[in-house]
Amino acid sequence: MRLTKIVPLSVLVLGIWLSMESRESKELGATSPTDTSQSPPMAPSRAPNIKPSTPGQTKTLGSDSIQPTPPPLSDRDLYRKPSLILPVGMVEDRWVTQGDVLVDPADVQDGVEGTAFRMVKMAQVSYWREGRVPVALDPNVNTTTVKAAIAEIEAQTRVRFVAHEDEPDFIVFRPAHADLCQSYLGRKGGEQEVVLAASCSKGQVLHELMHALGFVHEHSREDRDRYIKIVWDEILPAYRNQFQKVPAAVSQPVDVPFDFESILLYPSYAFSAGERPTITEPGGSAYSVNRAMLSLLDVEKVNLLYGGAAAKG
Ligand SMILES: [Zn+2]
Repeated sequence: MRLTKIVPLSVLVLGIWLSMESRESKELGATSPTDTSQSPPMAPSRAPNIKPSTPGQTKTLGSDSIQPTPPPLSDRDLYRKPSLILPVGMVEDRWVTQGDVLVDPADVQDGVEGTAFRMVKMAQVSYWREGRVPVALDPNVNTTTVKAAIAEIEAQTRVRFVAHEDEPDFIVFRPAHADLCQSYLGRKGGEQEVVLAASCSKGQVLHELMHALGFVHEHSREDRDRYIKIVWDEILPAYRNQFQKVPAAVSQPVDVPFDFESILLYPSYAFSAGERPTITEPGGSAYSVNRAMLSLLDVEKVNLLYGGAAAKG
């Protein structure tokens, strides 16, 4: 299932995951009892009918207009260069970049002249000391799904999620009104949200927790052009900013190969303006994605980043 028409940024996360879920079941034959039971059926028919849940409250990039403002045609030139200055937009009262990565309002800067976006400078990412992540759980989130995701990470990595007591830096899982799944990148400092709609599957929670552990989307890696091809002309203009390449200091904190199985990789048809893929293998072929579990390399990158001292915990 692909997005076939321009939709406001506010439904960006919904759109991407609808796309992922439907392709997952079709192409991989993947079934997850947990995900199936925890998530409403992602009926393919929903995707073409995506509407903002609260259109009157929805702001778009740098504007109070309901309609997204496409960036200028030079955007693809902008986004194919690695940059720590990333476009941000307002989604349901929170600033986000790269689709589902939350941004502290204090870090949002004015836009670059000639573009429609406000921007954020991604400071050097902070990680969790000794792989220890204090967490608090709002009872209104889908606690079963969150606990399943946490259990999967703890079973395969050295990261440990502990009940928050008085630690200054911690994650709080909060419910979302729309079908949003969002997280800050790495340890923000102080309280930081992981925002989860009831419909977020275990795979989606894993994806967000990987952001919280400090990892960006796989297709944003600085070296991505050696492994994938971004088909700019096929991407809906308002979503091209999500294909911004991010410098290796942030996008590749540890040395692991590009991973087509990563839970952080967008699907081949993400935000396609038509029927053709927006990301392909170098030869032009579409690929399947994993939306259900950590890949082997996801596990490896977590353990490389949080090995050593974390193991002592
Ligand atoms: Zn993401």
